[in-house]
Amino acid sequence: MQSTLSELAELQRLLRLDIPGVRRETLAQLSDGSEQYPVDAVFLGSDRPNVPTFLLVGGVHGVERIGSQVVLAYLNSLLHRLIWDQQLQMVLDNVRFVCLPVLNPVGMARQHRGNVNGVDLMRNAPIDAFDSITWPFGGQRLTRHLPWFRGGLGKPLEMEAQALCDLVERLCEQSPIVMALDVHSGFGTQDRLWFPMAGTRQPVPHIADYYALKKLLKHSHPNHRYLLEPQSHHYLCHGDLWDYLYLKANSRQQTLLPLTLELGSWRWVKKNPLQLRSFLGMFHPIKPHRVKRVLRENLYLIEILWRASANREQWLPKESQRQRMHKVALKHWYQND
Ligand SMILES: [Zn+2]
Repeated sequence: MQSTLSELAELQRLLRLDIPGVRRETLAQLSDGSEQYPVDAVFLGSDRPNVPTFLLVGGVHGVERIGSQVVLAYLNSLLHRLIWDQQLQMVLDNVRFVCLPVLNPVGMARQHRGNVNGVDLMRNAPIDAFDSITWPFGGQRLTRHLPWFRGGLGKPLEMEAQALCDLVERLCEQSPIVMALDVHSGFGTQDRLWFPMAGTRQPVPHIADYYALKKLLKHSHPNHRYLLEPQSHHYLCHGDLWDYLYLKANSRQQTLLPLTLELGSWRWVKKNPLQLRSFLGMFHPIKPHRVKRVLRENLYLIEILWRASANREQWLPKESQRQRMHKVALKHWYQND
């Protein structure tokens, strides 16, 4: 049956294309009382162990529909290219491409940031910020009726959060490296690529890798407008799932390099203040030509990132360069003044 949620209906349509080698896995089955909503992941490329993985995620926050749509636009392009592009098929023989377009379908159907229980999935991880946060924005346990609700203390992870964690942990076990891009919207006027942590201003051990990625993007995607920087430069929060997964991967000597793409939605509001009349307008472009532009503009970034994960040995700092690159990255992001 076709989903009433247009993003899920689009995913169903793409899966009906029946492209060889495309595998679907339902990670969780959710319900809002009247309709069932699957949390589906799509797997492409190699399923061998020991190949790198690229994971593309959208729809963590139900009001940020444009994130899901960016993910679906890329999946649409990739699937259609697989029909005729034999070289693309060869590249995918050496990388696992996993796409999770709508993590929070019930929130999206209800036009809520949180899930059916009012929990903000990006505040739900059992981890507190190491430095002080801005309340309630950085996560609160007071009430589900305010945004940024973390869920009750000691409660298990929400089903959607658990589904994402199980998937990422499985991919980390299978792969020498997992790069992830999680697409959001709603912050500032510029598109930003954030790397961990969200819970502390201290630099992470992988800043040399992120610095190498910044250089790669600068040269391979000339004139791009993404600001690649630590999330903690802007705000700190409790319970960030990527912090949680990143720390877990580090403790197991696995390599997980997550990135959050924050599409600068205030730019759309500036161009069309009428957007503010709708709550969704804070996070999503309303005019059709602007939606199309956002979907078009981000395709190449995703292409570069998954190709970079497939070819990590060509650009990640070698052991002999790591210390020097770490110092350069520290100076670049953390010692500006
Ligand atoms: Zn978000």
